[in-house]
Amino acid sequence: MSNGWLEGYSTLITGGGSGLGRAVAERFVAEGACVTIVDRNERRLNGMVEASGTPERFHTVVADVRDSASLRDAVAATVDRFGKLDTLVANAGVWDYQRQLTRLTADELDAAFDEIFSVNVKGYLLAASAAWPELVRTRGSIIMTLSNASFYVNGGGPLYTASKHACLGLMRELAYELAPKVRVNGVACGGMNTDLRGPEALSLDGRSLSTSFAKQGPDTPPPPIPLHDSSTDPRDFTGSYVLLAAREQSGPITGQAISVDGGIGVRGFASAAGGDHL
Ligand code: NAD
Repeated sequence: MSNGWLEGYSTLITGGGSGLGRAVAERFVAEGACVTIVDRNERRLNGMVEASGTPERFHTVVADVRDSASLRDAVAATVDRFGKLDTLVANAGVWDYQRQLTRLTADELDAAFDEIFSVNVKGYLLAASAAWPELVRTRGSIIMTLSNASFYVNGGGPLYTASKHACLGLMRELAYELAPKVRVNGVACGGMNTDLRGPEALSLDGRSLSTSFAKQGPDTPPPPIPLHDSSTDPRDFTGSYVLLAAREQSGPITGQAISVDGGIGVRGFASAAGGDHL
């Protein structure tokens, strides 16, 4: 019996089959919650539930977050199985591998814009649309996975950066529209070692961020952020999700993004961290 912050919570996480979403799902269960995971990768969903040791705490739905009917079905299945819905974590996303405007043909730009915005932005909106009536009933909350790219340049190319800036605006607008019954917040993550993929439209869906991290050897300079030796393990990014989901811990917080990015906003000019000599 756990004494977690999410005892008795029923939650739904998109993109929970891998990386950050998986880490949040496992952490939520460790905190006492039940979790529905929506992901398009069935093999991963099955593997994760088998590995969990607590399959009764998981419900999985194989679906694409661009499909609103599937998201509505996933919410209904969550309520059937776990009795209610307290928390939606909108998380599934794709990256653009920092493809700059000058390296995109007009056709690539057209197709990749539609794909990245429909997964990263429309996927969040459709999930919120499917979940809000149940969240009103429970006075629940929505947590959106944002990014350093929601605030700063060069965490992606123009498509990813614009999509994550859009998610920040979406989070703030929904925080207004769904108040006072539903809180809406974000967690703006910095670089993590995950399987984050690129869009099919740029033939980057076979590429994985984890292989990019793997290419960084011991001689690679540390990332130019103040906490440049901080973890890139997605499990170390999950605490803010627990905090924002737990009514008792964050009841008065809405419309806010917690940046979990090693301090990009306090990066120095002369050196990233002022205390390297300490
Ligand atoms: P990941 O690829 O390991 O996990 C994403 C999951 O979402 C995968 O299981 C994938 O199958 C699923 N998914 C992708 N598109 C989908 C779709 N259309 N429908 C259903 N499922 C879909 O990557 P991750 O890094 O864990 O990404 C999670 C979130 O974190 C994303 O929103 C990403 O933008 C954000 N993020 C990642 C980083 C990083 O460095 N990895 C940094 C900041 C923000």
